[in-house]
Amino acid sequence: MAVQQNRKTRSRRDMRRSHDALVAANPNECSNCGELKRPHHVCPSCGHYDGREVVARASDVVLDEDAA
Ligand SMILES: [Zn+2]
Repeated sequence: MAVQQNRKTRSRRDMRRSHDALVAANPNECSNCGELKRPHHVCPSCGHYDGREVVARASDVVLDEDAA
């Protein structure tokens, strides 16, 4: 295993960490239901993307009542 030869200074350590900050999420309003959603993602509350429904919500799905 590699072992460091010299101690990193507080300054070097903090310079390394200057890129570690988390950035806040940037939510958009859903064009269908107006709920906040992540950009470029299907809306989690209505299942719409780009103006059409692409994922049915679990509460709207009718599980087969004696099909087949
Ligand atoms: Zn929506």
